[in-house]
Amino acid sequence: MNATFTDLHLIDFANVAPNTLRDEVMSAIDKANAFLDDMTATSETHHADISAEQALMDVMAFDHINLALDRSWGILSHLNGVTSTDEIRHVHHELLPTLSAYGTRVGQHQPLFSHYQTIVNDTAFFATLDPARARAIELALQSFELSGVALPTDKQAQFAAIQSKLSTLSATFSDHVLDATQAYALVLNDEQLVGLTESGLALLADAGEQHKAKLLASGTLTQEEAAALPTPYYVASLNIPVYLAVMTHADDRGLRETLYRAYVTRASEFDEHTNAKGESLNNADIMSQILTLREQKAKLLGFDNYAEVSLSTKMADSVLEVETFLRDLAAQATPAAQKDLAQLQRCAQDYGIDELQPWDSAYIAEKVKQSEFSLSQEEIRPYFPLPKVTSGLFAIVERLYGITVKEQSYEGAGGHSVSRWHDDVRFYQLFDADDRLIGGFYFDLFSRSGKRGGAWMNGFQARYSYEAKAHQQLPVCFMVGNFTPALDGKPSLLTHDEVLTLFHEFGHGLHHLLTQVTVGDVAGVNGVEWDAVELPSQFMENWAWDAEGIALISSHVDTGEPLPKDKLDALLAVKNFQSGLQTLRQIEFALFDLLIHAHTPALDYEGILATLNAVRSDIAIMQTPDYNRFANGFSHIFAGGYAAGYYSYKWAELLSADAFSKFEEDGIFNPATGKAFRESILSVGGSFPAKTNFENFRGRSASIDALLRHNGFTDTKSPDAANAQTTREVI
Ligand SMILES: [Zn+2]
Repeated sequence: MNATFTDLHLIDFANVAPNTLRDEVMSAIDKANAFLDDMTATSETHHADISAEQALMDVMAFDHINLALDRSWGILSHLNGVTSTDEIRHVHHELLPTLSAYGTRVGQHQPLFSHYQTIVNDTAFFATLDPARARAIELALQSFELSGVALPTDKQAQFAAIQSKLSTLSATFSDHVLDATQAYALVLNDEQLVGLTESGLALLADAGEQHKAKLLASGTLTQEEAAALPTPYYVASLNIPVYLAVMTHADDRGLRETLYRAYVTRASEFDEHTNAKGESLNNADIMSQILTLREQKAKLLGFDNYAEVSLSTKMADSVLEVETFLRDLAAQATPAAQKDLAQLQRCAQDYGIDELQPWDSAYIAEKVKQSEFSLSQEEIRPYFPLPKVTSGLFAIVERLYGITVKEQSYEGAGGHSVSRWHDDVRFYQLFDADDRLIGGFYFDLFSRSGKRGGAWMNGFQARYSYEAKAHQQLPVCFMVGNFTPALDGKPSLLTHDEVLTLFHEFGHGLHHLLTQVTVGDVAGVNGVEWDAVELPSQFMENWAWDAEGIALISSHVDTGEPLPKDKLDALLAVKNFQSGLQTLRQIEFALFDLLIHAHTPALDYEGILATLNAVRSDIAIMQTPDYNRFANGFSHIFAGGYAAGYYSYKWAELLSADAFSKFEEDGIFNPATGKAFRESILSVGGSFPAKTNFENFRGRSASIDALLRHNGFTDTKSPDAANAQTTREVI
């Protein structure tokens, strides 16, 4: 297609009314429902089979309606995330039940499911489809099967009952964790504050204000009593930033132990808090019920256990493959972890701690970091002004992929003005080597009130074309961050962690934008397996860990000097600090998650705890206190989408490390390798299985070697090679 600016289909963000978006969402749902009604009526009156060709045309027409729905809803969700006003939030929340009911209807729609079956069952016809279309149909069919629609009628009812109970139980699990977290408050005296940083104290004072307000609201405290309290009123809570501030910096060891115990017993039998209705917050029974129901669901669908259900849509082939990967990685990380632990234990002696305990490790690690690596994130900031970082980032992808990024004007010049939801927002167009327009993206990178925390990439629209309506569109996405805004006439200055975040999200963005697929369901990040979707993002971080890459993105805000050699060395040296222990910890969580979903005996609470203890004795090298009930607050797997999928973090790290090692071999700016990566991974999106894409790029299946090397677990030297430890929110 000859793409033009109009194919971006941008909207007037500055003037868009939430009610208009709601009307668009409702109108798309009405159209889609009418379409499904028609399909039902036709399937009831005409018993004769329709042709595979006709079935495909129907499916594509239905996709087209859903595209309009996804777009309007996507815009509304985006605005709710970045500029949440009462009006937007109201409209957004009001639509949720309608969308959920619609989603359930689609997932359970027998005639629609039959259409997909008709297409696949006509093998001669199916073989003529282009691979992206074929893959999209296979994935849709698989998702229908996993939603129970292929089951006989009596089992469908059973399946629906299980689903409904599961969603209630997951919500309760997560409510309990939240309530348990918020119920805890520990008022601190001056001695307990020793060691805390200024920003830590500010967090504690803020927690104090919230606690005070809560006591006033509940009538526990009168206005006079509240006024008599000290200002600032310091309170330790279990909210993560407050918790970490205390665990990392508080000199008072007893305080750290108290807070640790409170944190790791949340929502367990040791947690005596209750919710507003006076009910216990203990998750023990809920965890057991969730596992039992998941097991029943798996059996209904014809799987042996729930881990198999989870893996059926992922890149990893089997429970055995994942378990082997995790145990192998643990074995390789253990010597490094032992060194990490020894380093902490040595330093602990200096602070009068004979036996290092879990509540000491973050505190001591911070001391080691300060003495061994005299480099703070704050010192680094002036070397990473945002405009330099973005222009360097664009230069890097230009060298790798031959693409260029151009910022768009906002004031109507040239007839291509771009409307934004906030003045801080930037819009860029992406062009290929031959100057053809590829797509566009918005940067909304600064924190402000009314904006959700964290960083993410979200598709505004996928690359897509639909001949029946002569419709074509180019990919556009949002990349959102929460960096410190520009201050005192100086540009925004980033820490190196923030630089990594930007590179990470840009990796997701390129996956979305560089796709050549025009079937929306498998274009860009769509349809990519969960355990492979972080490959392009983590991969991109490597350039922010490379000396040559860093030279392109750093220059002192006042002097224009590059990052000095000593600071660069210190930055690179701190990368693998404590990575052995951190890796073992992640493996402990991942293996526990996998095993409780794979091994049927562990369905009651006793069994869950026994599995946790077994995993700890296999993996951990630091003792955990008997009372630790970490699993009772493990929302990722009991209330989020990570059940039997927590390993995905490490799995994607393996893929990105191995992919990057090809660049280490060929030169990290090698354009031929860049082209190969673009063609085998970024361009094809979800139109082929991730395993196929990876093997096409690497010429072999994925290997763990690069991951081990990048984490410093093997001695093999490779200059500047790196891989990030942290994983951030995806899409
Ligand atoms: Zn990500």
